[in-house]
Amino acid sequence: MNILILGNGQLGQMLGRAAIHYGHACLLVDTKTDQVMPVASYQALDMTIESATAWADVVSWEHEQLQPAHVDICADKFLSPPSEILKLTDRQLEKQLCDDLGLATSPWFAFSHQAELESGLSDSDQAWVVKAAQGGYDGRSQWRYKPNEATNFRFHEAGAQPGIAEHMIDFNCEVSIVGARNQVGHTCCLPLVENIHREGILSHTFALLSELPEHLQSQAEHAFVQITEALHYVGTLAIEFFVVGEGSQARLLINEIAPRVHNSGHWSMTGSSCDQFDLHIRALTATPFPASLTPRPTVMLNVIGVPSIPSHLWPSDADPHWYGKDARPGRKVGHVNWLTCSRAEAQAFVDREQANVQQLA
Ligand code: ATP
Ligand code: MG
Ligand code: MG
Repeated sequence: MNILILGNGQLGQMLGRAAIHYGHACLLVDTKTDQVMPVASYQALDMTIESATAWADVVSWEHEQLQPAHVDICADKFLSPPSEILKLTDRQLEKQLCDDLGLATSPWFAFSHQAELESGLSDSDQAWVVKAAQGGYDGRSQWRYKPNEATNFRFHEAGAQPGIAEHMIDFNCEVSIVGARNQVGHTCCLPLVENIHREGILSHTFALLSELPEHLQSQAEHAFVQITEALHYVGTLAIEFFVVGEGSQARLLINEIAPRVHNSGHWSMTGSSCDQFDLHIRALTATPFPASLTPRPTVMLNVIGVPSIPSHLWPSDADPHWYGKDARPGRKVGHVNWLTCSRAEAQAFVDREQANVQQLA
């Protein structure tokens, strides 16, 4: 089949490589310049988005911030209804969707301007996280409100655009599920993994290296099925959760939903027989999902702010993926996966490689 992906960042490139590996042809669109290009090449082809869409059997995306003009051009070739997907680009609609489906999230309210935000927070002895409705990622466009520091809160910034305020959750840990749904409604989920964030950015993921209560996997898969069915979604999708409560009382609160392949699924490139990119391509091309993913304990470390880590500084059995990006503070330039059965060893790997990154910065 011919597959067109909107977006040519690292997620688009990794999707493109999976498409080729399944014997499909794949082109990517640089959605900033509208240039069309082959996978692993930044040489534009003599093609418009219109002609690339005519060439394609199916169109998908690496990021959900779809431009209305692109949606108009590609609409007939999407397998998921874009109007549903666009709901997930607005945190107010995303939270409302969870409420409508009876899926737990942190208590919240929507505001459309500063005065509404101020009246919602005033007199509250609760800590809040305020998030712009649109456009935030890697912890950007978020503000923390603490009642004892309320006078310092930047209401003018946080209330400058519509958004949500939600209770700050004192979670035990953060986890996510990445899975895929196909056109006949079959789903296939990777195991729930633990994610460690630093300054709002995903730092590393532990897959099958955390002692998560077993019932959380079925809670997460239940949410996955509910959400993907409600959206008539086809492809890979990720849900981030907070874990609250202990042992048999532990439960999941949805933090956010990403209708695409996701950074917290990158471990599966090494730790699963079918990774999150493969699952997306299988979903798009009506290729049945595997009966088992045979996942293996894996740690994934994001490399942030340096061009790469030279090979003599990571274990020879590690699996690096460099995105070919210039280094900037806070920018993800690659990730390194490493298979290990021991959480302590995984943590030592993270500590060692993060020290290397600091030295290189
Ligand atoms: P991403 O890059 O994952 O899309 P984002 O910018 O959309 O990130 P969130 O996932 O909403 O941001 O928040 C980033 C991080 O901030 C979370 O992973 C979590 O560590 C922290 N955080 C967000 N909301 C809350 C909350 N209500 N309570 C406690 N911590 C929170
Ligand atoms: Mg997000
Ligand atoms: Mg997030």
